[in-house]
Amino acid sequence: MKEKNSKSITLLGAGTVVTGGSAPLVIENGAVAFSKDRVLEVGPEKDLRSIYPDARFLDAQGGIILPGFINLHHHFYSALAVGLDSGMPIIDFTQILDRFWWRLDRAHDWKTIELSAFITAADCIQNGCTTVFDHHASPSCIKGSLNRIAQAVTEAGISSVLCYEVSDRNGHKDALLGIEENISFIEEHLGDPQIRGAFGMHACFTLRDETLSRIASRAPKDCGIHIHVAEDKVDVAETQDRFGVGPVQLLDDLGLINEHALLAHGVHLSERELGIIGERGAVLIHNPESNANNRVGRLDIEKAVEKGCLIGLGTDGMTSAMLLELRFAILNQQGVLADAEALAKVISKMLFANNAMVARRFFDEPLLGELVKGAPADIAVIDAPLHTKIDSSNIFSHMIYRAAGAPVRHTIGRGNILMKDFQIQTLDRKELAAKAREISPDFQERFHKKKAGTPFRG
Ligand SMILES: [Zn+2]
Repeated sequence: MKEKNSKSITLLGAGTVVTGGSAPLVIENGAVAFSKDRVLEVGPEKDLRSIYPDARFLDAQGGIILPGFINLHHHFYSALAVGLDSGMPIIDFTQILDRFWWRLDRAHDWKTIELSAFITAADCIQNGCTTVFDHHASPSCIKGSLNRIAQAVTEAGISSVLCYEVSDRNGHKDALLGIEENISFIEEHLGDPQIRGAFGMHACFTLRDETLSRIASRAPKDCGIHIHVAEDKVDVAETQDRFGVGPVQLLDDLGLINEHALLAHGVHLSERELGIIGERGAVLIHNPESNANNRVGRLDIEKAVEKGCLIGLGTDGMTSAMLLELRFAILNQQGVLADAEALAKVISKMLFANNAMVARRFFDEPLLGELVKGAPADIAVIDAPLHTKIDSSNIFSHMIYRAAGAPVRHTIGRGNILMKDFQIQTLDRKELAAKAREISPDFQERFHKKKAGTPFRG
């Protein structure tokens, strides 16, 4: 009872609460009470005010109070890519990698790794995203890179699942370093409430068989691989050519496809391989903006659902705004599927239900991603007062046509107010931007000195 009257309790109210999860509820004139890192109560504001009369009040100003967003596939290291010109023609996916991303990741040094993590974490907070699954590459600085990123995101206040993308494209020695970086990070952060590790791999087509075997034998059991799969046809063709099977079959033969496996893209997977993902309960991560940007095709959502795949949503470094990604996911499928209504149902589940389900597996938090009593206090307040009726049947419409694109007013990560009234509390965005402008000429110079023509497997 003592705590009920304590000032350590915050009552976030004067808004419409949408609880999230697989069966979201709407509470108009609702509120969320939280203390330390937990949600204490969710309900009508007048009820919560009587239970917690002395709580500190945080005003949602009529906005929508949602669980903090979860992004299942992001790349912190891409922050400095904006405005960078490769100086070479780029016409297909392998050139996008070889002439742009593989030169950019080699240009990273400790300073730019850290700064990129800070800048992207600030973007996440600005967009109400409180849990991020990141996929990192910095061949010039492998050992210790994940902890450097972990320090930045911890300072920012968001939760993260980090991994290093193992690849043989820069030689087998780098692949071995990547394996050790993943293993030591995963082990070091077991039980950490906000930072966890997964086992990162670039894609089957840049991995040698001895590297894959080593990963299969050395990776901690069920740690969860995080890998790009069949993003472009090249991954399927190269894997088939070299191993005689497709990428998912290859990973499954190695025992790496399980409920913790995070498989980004899957655009060119066969029905049979989608079936393996479904059977194993692995996670297929849809990144529609990135797929469009890279012109690799569209995920066949209907087929993936038919094969039992759990489909989550990621952004692949394109944005940190999950609602914009959600809106793009639906717009980009218009005219592709015959049954638009069924599609809307599937896509609406990706962000709030499926991403939450996946994050729970990694953080051992059965209520993560939902605003209910006992859940981690991860909250986003969208500054979009609703001018039409909302109920549990039309939440998706309000998210797509009202909330997407609206600014986020407050972001709360594990009970800490990370952004209040549009001002980030944990980081200084202007200072970060100034630092980035200062060091980006050197970064760009290093980038331009890197040669293209990297062989896939070193
Ligand atoms: Zn990616």
